[in-house]
Amino acid sequence: MELTSVVPAEAILEPQGRYLADLMGRGVQGTADAVVLPSTTEEVAAVMRWCYEHNVPLTARGGGTGLAGGAVPVSGGVVIGFERLNKVRQFDPLLWRMHVEAGVTTGDVQRLARESGLRFPPDPGAAEISQIGGNIACNAGGPHAFKYGVTGHWVTGLEVVVPPGEIVHVGGPIRKDVAAYDLKSLFVGSEGTLGLVTDAWLRLVPAPELELPVIGFYPDADAGVSAIERVLASGVVPAAIEYLDGVTLEYSGGAYPFGVPDGAAFMVITEADGSAAEARRVAAELHEALAEDSLAVHAPDDAADVSELWRWRGGAAFAILAQRGGAYSEDIAVPLDKLRDVARETLEIGERHNVPALSFGHAGDGNIHSTFLFSPDDADEQQRADDACHELFELALRLGGTVSGEHGIGWLKRGQLEHQLGAAGYDLHMKIKQAFDPKNLLNPGKKQ
Ligand SMILES: Cc1cc2nc3c(=O)[nH]c(=O)nc-3n(C[C@H](O)[C@H](O)[C@H](O)COP(=O)(O)OP(=O)(O)OC[C@H]3O[C@@H](n4cnc5c(N)ncnc54)[C@H](O)[C@@H]3O)c2cc1C
Repeated sequence: MELTSVVPAEAILEPQGRYLADLMGRGVQGTADAVVLPSTTEEVAAVMRWCYEHNVPLTARGGGTGLAGGAVPVSGGVVIGFERLNKVRQFDPLLWRMHVEAGVTTGDVQRLARESGLRFPPDPGAAEISQIGGNIACNAGGPHAFKYGVTGHWVTGLEVVVPPGEIVHVGGPIRKDVAAYDLKSLFVGSEGTLGLVTDAWLRLVPAPELELPVIGFYPDADAGVSAIERVLASGVVPAAIEYLDGVTLEYSGGAYPFGVPDGAAFMVITEADGSAAEARRVAAELHEALAEDSLAVHAPDDAADVSELWRWRGGAAFAILAQRGGAYSEDIAVPLDKLRDVARETLEIGERHNVPALSFGHAGDGNIHSTFLFSPDDADEQQRADDACHELFELALRLGGTVSGEHGIGWLKRGQLEHQLGAAGYDLHMKIKQAFDPKNLLNPGKKQ
């Protein structure tokens, strides 16, 4: 029986380039026998049933912006893309909730909420391309996760297709649910290995009246991390606490809209939000905490400048990538008292492996994008950058952290989970996989 017997022929494509690799092309190339773009949940279920009957691997693909090789079909078989499953099923602004199909982009959800004075707070950097299904599968974060939490925090219900092709619903348009084991949270962050998310109920909040970034510049990482510690100890809750180290500033600072001060080798970005009065009060506290030992403090208060700041911050990843054409940008997370160690040791690891190194990221969550650069034309340099990542993962575990705070394990971090969880923890993890996907056909080889 052919795949065309269960979904319309026009939903099936020949495998083509963009479905076989991640958008950021981190060197992982897959193969597939077919790409299917279903338009309904029933078609998703039919494809899974067909794959299960024929023992064919099935890899979910959202926007392809993942940074761990998670959507790359490394075992061949069928790629299932969600871009045609892109309807808003229901939007109840007065009840602060939205029901969307998995293929709606993060940016569209954010915009729709904003037009009604609401906010969908998760803000991963590739929002115009990434999809809600992909955000849920990776439990994506972003700068404002410090105050608002990551994607899973904003999901109240899921429709998921699970092997061998059943449609299940967990949660819904409800704000509390403790009836079953927390199946919703198992699907959140499962990277397409337990089920295929076809729709989600999302929780929204009223948008803040005012957002006021306060940015400090420091001569070195020590002074910058001390400023972050003062912010945390100040007793106010910023919406975001980000940092960029000196190398990151060197590569991306030219486009910073307000001018990087001379001698700056560390930058801390915080933001106050809330009602106008609350945002101003918090911003004043942040200013005081950041000013000590700083070279300069910037506090843009014009809405256009604030957007410009975050646009620039979002572009930093591309400015870094442009340096040598290749970058392994990891996403370890460590306890907050270890930020100083990560900033310093990232550079030391780069030196040991003779590759350019830098770090930046979501400092308030201890979630740092330590990055090692390479030229894609230089296989030896690429290998050294990869070796540097492995040493970085060891560092994360030595500091009591995790090998992934945002991007997931995917394919690129394969083998790391067992180190982190230990034998018994890893065994439990794999038993969950076995319970959901006994034939190991859903995104095989990933998240392990
Ligand atoms: C410039 C840039 C900045 C980024 N910034 C951030 C950031 O700040 N925070 C952050 O967390 N991430 C960030 N990312 C990573 C990425 O954008 C997120 O992980 C995002 O959630 C991936 O969504 P996607 O739709 O592109 O998923 P894909 O890359 O297509 O897939 C990712 C994983 O989810 C699975 N999947 C996709 N759709 C489904 C579905 N419907 N059901 C089940 N499984 C599915 C795939 O199999 C794969 O394992 C960034 C990426 C880039 C390129």
